[in-house]
Amino acid sequence: MQEAMLNHLIQAVAGAVIAHADELSALDAAIGDGDHGHNMRRGAEAVLAELPNLLGQPMGAVLRACGVQVVMKVGGASGPLVGTLLMELGKHLPPAPGHEDFANALEAAVVAVKGRGKSGEGQKTMLDVLGPVLRGVRTHEECAGIKQLAAEAAIATIPLKATRGRASFLGERSIGHMDPGARSTSLMIGTVCDELSLARAGK
Ligand code: ADP
Ligand code: MG
Repeated sequence: MQEAMLNHLIQAVAGAVIAHADELSALDAAIGDGDHGHNMRRGAEAVLAELPNLLGQPMGAVLRACGVQVVMKVGGASGPLVGTLLMELGKHLPPAPGHEDFANALEAAVVAVKGRGKSGEGQKTMLDVLGPVLRGVRTHEECAGIKQLAAEAAIATIPLKATRGRASFLGERSIGHMDPGARSTSLMIGTVCDELSLARAGK
């Protein structure tokens, strides 16, 4: 991927997070403490501020540096988890990754998030989006398909009972609400998919 495209992707994802911050906080207000949008916006702003310092670096190094910013600047559970995802993705990506390289790096990053969160799929967290997306990437789904399955996976967290994170304190009362981290993860992945589709269509 060209450096300009990576920069563009990161800016698009950060922009989407900032634009949806209120929606993410409203989801978190229902089953958490209402700060998820604020946390994610802080991370996005830190990444945007760091981006000019990363010019000329390989893709892996850029993603790693973005992850470091998110870990350093974002409080809450999501900061270390989203930061770990980005750092590990960066760590495992070779300089010119092919599809398999990307799938392997994503798998390593998801495993690292599980380790950091002591969590797995089915617990009403961001992992309930990351798992299906990883499987979609493995089976060579198109961009539009990945975006759709991420969105569906976020919706599928609504009937789940949270057993990790702050929402787990609510027990049965966490049922009936979308997990905010699942929604933000779907939003970020959907934005990447949209931008890649546009780039491939030459627009
Ligand atoms: P906090 O819960 O500390 O206020 P945020 O509101 O920013 O942090 O993030 C909450 C989101 O983080 C949840 O919706 C969930 O998706 C994710 N999350 C929380 N704990 C875990 C965990 N142990 N493993 C995976 N994801 C988690
Ligand atoms: Mg919160």
